[in-house]
Amino acid sequence: MMPSSIRARLTLWYVSLLTVTLLLLGGAGYGVLSYSLSHQVDQALSGVARVLAEHGGSDQNPGFPLDVDEVFRRFFGFSPWERYFRMLDPLGRRDPRHGAERSEKLPVSPIAIENASRGLPTFETVELGEPHPVRILTFPVVQGGRLARVVQVGTSLQSIIETRNRFLLIMAGLLPLGLLLAGAGGWMLARRALLPVDRMTEAANRIGAEHLAERLEETGADDELDRLARTLNGMLARLDAAFSQVRRFTANASHELQTPLTILKGELEVALRSRRSPEEYRETLQSELDEVNRMIQLVDGLLLLARSEAGVLGRGSQLLDLAELVHQVGSRLKVLADAHSVELTIETLEPVLVLGDAEHLSRLLSNLVENGIKYSGPGGRVAISLERLGDRASVRVSDTGPGIPEELREQIFQPFFRSPDAISHRGVGLGLSIARAIAAAHEGSLEVESSPEQGSTFRLILPMRRF
Ligand code: ADP
Repeated sequence: MMPSSIRARLTLWYVSLLTVTLLLLGGAGYGVLSYSLSHQVDQALSGVARVLAEHGGSDQNPGFPLDVDEVFRRFFGFSPWERYFRMLDPLGRRDPRHGAERSEKLPVSPIAIENASRGLPTFETVELGEPHPVRILTFPVVQGGRLARVVQVGTSLQSIIETRNRFLLIMAGLLPLGLLLAGAGGWMLARRALLPVDRMTEAANRIGAEHLAERLEETGADDELDRLARTLNGMLARLDAAFSQVRRFTANASHELQTPLTILKGELEVALRSRRSPEEYRETLQSELDEVNRMIQLVDGLLLLARSEAGVLGRGSQLLDLAELVHQVGSRLKVLADAHSVELTIETLEPVLVLGDAEHLSRLLSNLVENGIKYSGPGGRVAISLERLGDRASVRVSDTGPGIPEELREQIFQPFFRSPDAISHRGVGLGLSIARAIAAAHEGSLEVESSPEQGSTFRLILPMRRF
């Protein structure tokens, strides 16, 4: 089972990798060492055999002329106690004149004699019942083109085996020690590297909905953790903005609901204080009905925005003729335009089909046209036009009003936003945000273009249906 902390996991991985690496390196080292030691022994045996073949055992020079200890010393650097040498005749029989007593034990393998008869040397490793195996070289001495004798030399493999064992012992001792040190080092390094994560966790725990203005510490190192802190800070900033917006929205909504309720209450209290004529009651009730209607409109708008925020404001599936809808809204608002002495013109082409909700789209268009009339003022003009832009339909509502300053062009789409000079118009500031929410629900967009001299133009783009 994997440990649950990253620190422990990192250390475990690190130590495991190091173990594998050290084992591989140790294995390779052991292999190279064994090979070179064996190679060295074989080389030395060849050297000794060659010297003995040249100088010893000839008929003119019976007996070993050289001090074999000396020869061994020359090639091995020392004279091993367990050294073997002897001469054999071409058939592999021992020549009693040459050879050490203890060499009697050396075996003569048929393969070695066979190889010797073909002029080839043979290396063999044999057990002679001694504590360590013996390496033997059977070496042919060729004179006058025929096999004259066979030299056999051997040496115990004790020193090689001891060196190899010493190497294994050192490895076995150093490996756990090295791994222990590396593990402790890895553990400390992981702790150091993950310290910022601990700090981040602490800070993130501290930051609740009430402390969204707090930020995680950025080190400026531009490493992975710094980038993570920056990303989280970006997320916190967005959350902070969203929370503030929700708070503002709630405060504004309560305020907007409170105002008509206070007016209602005041009017009702005044009406009840003394007896009134039926006309006066009627007047009071009418005024109250206006306030109630205003509240219904407000609550209705809030509900629509809430549904849009929740992503459940559907587009509807009615196939609508946008041209007809524009005409209907225009005709309905002509009365309002006339009342404000505003000239309202409508320009549409042939039918433009869109999929949508007729009630919502009428509301969107009405909001734009009503604003145009409201802000143009007497003598102004409002024009509605519909055109096709490829596979999209574009509705433009232009007016000759005061226009919208550049810095407010995005803000006007925020719920409850009203420019300071628009507050006297008694709007609540939901019209444009509702219009944009409806456009978005229809997979369309609503933007504004404006210049102070030429008024404002709102452009609604909707995807068109072709049949
Ligand atoms: P309301 O009209 O109820 O105040 P809206 O959401 O419709 O709310 O508009 C928000 C703000 O956008 C308005 O207060 C006004 O400042 C600005 N605005 C909207 N339409 C126009 C327009 N046609 N010309 C100038 N300003 C406008």
